[in-house]
Amino acid sequence: MSSKPFFRFHPEAYEHGVFDASDEACSACGKPCVWKYNQHIYALPPEPTAICSRCIADGSVAKVVPEGDYGLHDFELGGETSEALAVEVEQRTPGFCHL
Ligand SMILES: [Zn+2]
Repeated sequence: MSSKPFFRFHPEAYEHGVFDASDEACSACGKPCVWKYNQHIYALPPEPTAICSRCIADGSVAKVVPEGDYGLHDFELGGETSEALAVEVEQRTPGFCHL
């Protein structure tokens, strides 16, 4: 996978500054992050120290958080949203900068 995956629900994620260029090892895949996620990951503690853009894109964050349960946003989709779509938005789309 590319080190700079595209997020269809947040196409300007890199421009929005939610990733930092970093060679820190990713907590989930163990490889240098390249693009390290700098926003909050909503999960039970301990929070992963470093997560790369690839692991956000493919959902690998679930491997390193308790019970595999986490979210990248402080909201949940409601209504008629399909479960697959909700998972993509809540767990595989980078959060928006809280300025
Ligand atoms: Zn990773």
